[in-house]
Amino acid sequence: MPSRECSTTETKGTEVTDLLFEQGPIRPPSEAQSLLLRLTRNCPWNRCEFCHTYKDQTFSLRTVEEVKKDIDAISEIVQQLKALSWRVGEGGEITANLVQFVLQNPRGYPDTFRSISLWLYAGGKNVFLQDANSLVLKTDQVVDVLTTLRGTFPFVERITTYARSKTISKKSVEELGSLHRAGLSRIHIGLETGYDPLLELVQKGVTAEEHITAGRRVKESGISLSEYVVLGLGGKKMWREHAVETARVLSQINPDFIRVRTLKVLKTMPLYEKIARKEFILLSDDEVVVEEKLLIERLEGIHSRFVSDHILNLLEEVEGKLPEDKAKMLAIIDQYLALSEEEKENFRLGRRAGIYRFLSHLENPELHSEVEKAIKRIRKETPEGVETVISELMSSFI
Ligand code: SF4
Repeated sequence: MPSRECSTTETKGTEVTDLLFEQGPIRPPSEAQSLLLRLTRNCPWNRCEFCHTYKDQTFSLRTVEEVKKDIDAISEIVQQLKALSWRVGEGGEITANLVQFVLQNPRGYPDTFRSISLWLYAGGKNVFLQDANSLVLKTDQVVDVLTTLRGTFPFVERITTYARSKTISKKSVEELGSLHRAGLSRIHIGLETGYDPLLELVQKGVTAEEHITAGRRVKESGISLSEYVVLGLGGKKMWREHAVETARVLSQINPDFIRVRTLKVLKTMPLYEKIARKEFILLSDDEVVVEEKLLIERLEGIHSRFVSDHILNLLEEVEGKLPEDKAKMLAIIDQYLALSEEEKENFRLGRRAGIYRFLSHLENPELHSEVEKAIKRIRKETPEGVETVISELMSSFI
């Protein structure tokens, strides 16, 4: 811990409390250590029935000038943090001690200082452009922001963003190429499903064909592509078609990454009303695993990395490079499906309670007995309570 105190009034006479910039609410799990730079506010579509992130929030564009002011503020914060590091004896480096000092300083640093210190401590190499669809801005505006960003922080190596397939399908490969040359490294797309009736049911506002066009254009432009799939989205009626058609669409795109995230419906999501009216019936955990198995089986001729990096997913270790790891991923799924009902319940609760991460953790007698005791306790209070507890734990992850 640095021993010397410092003033909150810094080098250029700028009060730290004046150094503010905007940040939106979410980023992909893989961008946990990225700087979040907000290009637009909220989601211009905002109708997907399984999503509540921006509900009741109005979409707005930010001007390039506004974003550049944020970049200037971030740059000033970086300078002030380095100066602070010298003053407290950390040699100008953003060390664990310095981060701790900023986080715990009783005089108080605003959240912006905390997030920039954490970003720099993580290496300061990655930036994520927020919010839900940055490419809704004109291409030359995004190029302008990217150029300024890279000019200001030459040490940044990766710049990524979310974008909708609908928006990308209206951009040419040349436009996307100019974004790539300006520094955009990766686009995260919420594919969700490749089955048209399901895309319509959940109001995704895009067709499977548009997903394919957009995905292929991103790939052709040289930008890395990450496609998100919602496991369980087909429900009891469409799970098979969801798996088969999603695999078909992904196989035509050949994205760099396929990332899965399991459906969890909260009351604040429009899909909840369909569930209440019995128009949509949720799959059980085991059925979701069977659906995931079919999806993986049907992925053909691609070289994507399959990633399960969301805490909502039951089987985190179903990950690997296609096609070489396909058999290994399917074997993990079969291993889970072969468990007794009692062991499945033990794993499901333990995984969601954060006691287990992998199936192999079931073999740890201490952890196993901890979950067993929890199940007995829950059953004593409510015979059917285990499912409720699992559902509540999953809700807390969103
Ligand atoms: S496009 Fe993305 S952020 Fe917007 S409503 Fe759909 S899932 Fe949510």
